[in-house]
Amino acid sequence: MSATILDGKALSKEIRREITEQTAHFIEQAGIVPTLAAVLVGEDAASQVYVRNKQRACEQVGIESNLHRLPAETTQDEMLSLIAKLNKDPAINGILVQLPLPDHIDESRVLDAVHPLKDVDSFHPENVGRLVQGRPRCLPCTPHGIQQMLARHDIDVAGKHVVIVGRSEIVGKPMALMLMQRNCALGKSATNGTVTVCHSRTHDLPTITRQADILIAAIGVAKFVTAEMIKPGAVVVDVGINRTDDGLVGDVDFEAALEVAGAVTPVPGGVGPLTITMLLQNTLAAAEMHAGG
Ligand code: NDP
Repeated sequence: MSATILDGKALSKEIRREITEQTAHFIEQAGIVPTLAAVLVGEDAASQVYVRNKQRACEQVGIESNLHRLPAETTQDEMLSLIAKLNKDPAINGILVQLPLPDHIDESRVLDAVHPLKDVDSFHPENVGRLVQGRPRCLPCTPHGIQQMLARHDIDVAGKHVVIVGRSEIVGKPMALMLMQRNCALGKSATNGTVTVCHSRTHDLPTITRQADILIAAIGVAKFVTAEMIKPGAVVVDVGINRTDDGLVGDVDFEAALEVAGAVTPVPGGVGPLTITMLLQNTLAAAEMHAGG
């Protein structure tokens, strides 16, 4: 079997075209340019690349982005006062704090300080609570990108067994919540999955993953998911980004998955571009909310 490759780059382009049109329309109607403030602390090389890519993507679709670049020795209080300033600034619609933060700063304290209506990553407890209750504002970017990817490839989630490996606050946990709701903005077929969440304490992981109609790997271990862990014909979504001597690789052994799965996302060029695209969509949505739309 040779699986279909779910091209996140191409899909991202298509969605970004839609966002560009919607942004232009919003600017014309509201007279406001949606604006994202990005906060980057320290010199972490990967974070610098991520922030640069996010800024570039904003520019592409007509969203303004302001970068607040702070030295690694920035204190937590300094960080909190910058967030407070951005919360109050009516010109800022979204606030993005690039993670990880240096060890001396409590990440939760900082993320909790972002105003829930400017929380374009949807990390704030109020927004997480709303997601649990099935009435989200913005959706967390990576899981939302995955849900869009499935929906736009006509891959129904309803009634399927979805196995998610990984239970992080950023990917695994919100993904599980989003795929088990009764309904969502993309319609009932994009959710209503029967969801199993696995993690490092799960016994006999391959037996569980082999039951998955849709297998989502968000682990952070290069090529962890092998052919024996995949049910023939399953949809395999690879969230992992692992830097190795061979370059960037996912959590799935891509070549092996191609032989067994029905569809698989590549790394790079799968989930990654969609994550950034959903950040753009959330920033526009936040601007619309702030304008009362
Ligand atoms: P975390 O490290 O926060 O979580 C990893 C999860 O994987 C944990 O729940 C952990 O279990 C589980 N896990 C680790 N080892 C095993 C194992 N041997 N068997 C089963 N489960 C295991 O990672 P993130 O969720 O933040 O990220 C996961 C990957 O996705 C990373 O490679 C990251 O770079 C990438 N990523 C990609 C994004 C994109 O846009 N494409 C966005 C965000 C992340 P436990 O909870 O028990 O420790």
